[in-house]
Amino acid sequence: MRARAGRLPDPVRISFLGGLGEIGRNCACLETDGRIVVLDCGVMFPDPDMPGIDLVLPDLSYLRERAAAVEAVVLTHGHEDHTGGLAYLLRDLEVSVFGSALTLGLARHRVEEAGLEHRARFVEVGDGERRTVGPFDVEFIPVTHSVPHGFATAFHTPQGVVLHSGDFKLDLTPVDGRLTDLGRMGALAQDPGIRLLLSDSTNAEEPGYTASETTVGATLQRLFEARPGRRVIVTCFASHIHRVQQVARAALATDRKVAFLGRSMRKNVDLARRLGVLELPEESIVDIEDVDEAEPGEVCVISTGSQGEPLSALALMAGGESKWLRLRPGDVVVISAHPVPGNEWAVGKVIDGLYRRGAEVIHSAVEPVHVSGHARQGELQTLLSITRPEWFIPVHGEYRHMVNHAQLALRTGVEEKKALLCEDGDSVVLDDEGLHRGDSVPAGFLYVDGTVGDVGHGVLRDRRVLAEEGVVLVVATVDVHAGEVVTDPEIVTRGWVHAPEAEALLEEASRTVRAALQEAIAAGATDHESLHRHARRALGRFVGERTRRRPMIVPVVVSV
Ligand SMILES: [Zn+2]
Ligand SMILES: [Zn+2]
Repeated sequence: MRARAGRLPDPVRISFLGGLGEIGRNCACLETDGRIVVLDCGVMFPDPDMPGIDLVLPDLSYLRERAAAVEAVVLTHGHEDHTGGLAYLLRDLEVSVFGSALTLGLARHRVEEAGLEHRARFVEVGDGERRTVGPFDVEFIPVTHSVPHGFATAFHTPQGVVLHSGDFKLDLTPVDGRLTDLGRMGALAQDPGIRLLLSDSTNAEEPGYTASETTVGATLQRLFEARPGRRVIVTCFASHIHRVQQVARAALATDRKVAFLGRSMRKNVDLARRLGVLELPEESIVDIEDVDEAEPGEVCVISTGSQGEPLSALALMAGGESKWLRLRPGDVVVISAHPVPGNEWAVGKVIDGLYRRGAEVIHSAVEPVHVSGHARQGELQTLLSITRPEWFIPVHGEYRHMVNHAQLALRTGVEEKKALLCEDGDSVVLDDEGLHRGDSVPAGFLYVDGTVGDVGHGVLRDRRVLAEEGVVLVVATVDVHAGEVVTDPEIVTRGWVHAPEAEALLEEASRTVRAALQEAIAAGATDHESLHRHARRALGRFVGERTRRRPMIVPVVVSV
């Protein structure tokens, strides 16, 4: 698609709103001629240092301010780090949303919960299809991953082909036989050539190749066979339909019926069966309510909670609080997932709880009951060698993953100056000359707690101090006209010292504040602001000197 003489083809601008520097909240914008297509709109799950935060979103203000120009959202696959932000985006704009039937089905759950499905026009696309999406001609190329029916997307633009890998691995024996279409990507590399490749960096530090998903099925079958007469409970991600399929196959092969536990598991299984992605005859399913009465060796429960989430089905089981399932000695629990970084501790606690109930626990450290959905170094280099991009930007990863991925690209022959490291908020412009860095865009973390938008960095900083050091409040009444502190200031604390055992310390603190205020008034301080400042400073110093702690200090000075 080169321009005719006299007019240069429009440049293509790509802006990264999230996903480059963290695993999560993947979101990029591709635009040309003033028209924008959004590629994925995901959430990130909070780190342990974000107390009370439910979710983290990309800053969507770039899109909100250009709402009229945003023509569509393309979803590469159904994971929440790619689709979970859609419900928030739809608050501000109405768009067409393109993706595979399963991807759209998974994405719809959250959109429907928010009551916003009328603001989106969902457009299903099949493997290998080409569609006009906003200003681009987009080709949907199958890839293997840990959720079925994911796509790489080839954007045919005025500046040539921009290929985005999506989340992928090169599974040569996938559960459904649907392979990553390297043939098509190779053909694109041949004609018209790939101008720019954006590729998944998650496992760029891992040498070798990720094992096939079907190896997990073989392991499960072996484990099930070796435990006749015993009840088996398997937990995995609710969107990992191929894992669910393999657990179900192993269960049926060992004469066990299958029950599903956990809201998202039941929802996703219903969806996948309806779409024919999950094959499971009705008569092989047993209701979770009937599991406790069934013979232990005749049932297999597939459950949510593989990340140790506190209210998940598995955590409740481990705590003996599950309404549906009372664990007994002899039960076997298989954790068919890796803890996402940050969740290791929570998963460890759940495993402890399961052992306390007498269950045997099998997890990925003791048996190969899990494989990643992301390509390792060997696969990443294979993709680079097949696609032979002129320019390369590693995406989807923490900074170190992207650095390693860029180095892999150089080894496959990408020129050093043509492998660009970008981060959230960066933009690049592809034109006739090549790829340049563009203006930056807002891309901060948007914290969601309850309803979106009311938790900023300041609130989060306060929460961290409160969580780590507690709070000390002093309430003092002053009579500025008489020039005196009326009563002994009252000290109230949570999380600094246990008040009933620290009476003397609190009294001393009160006297210290009283003296400081008295002195300040005598020196002429009468306004609220300076009285507050004196109270805070005196109390802060006292607390620091006497306890070597730094709680939040809140002065309340009332004048009469
Ligand atoms: Zn994914
Ligand atoms: Zn992802």
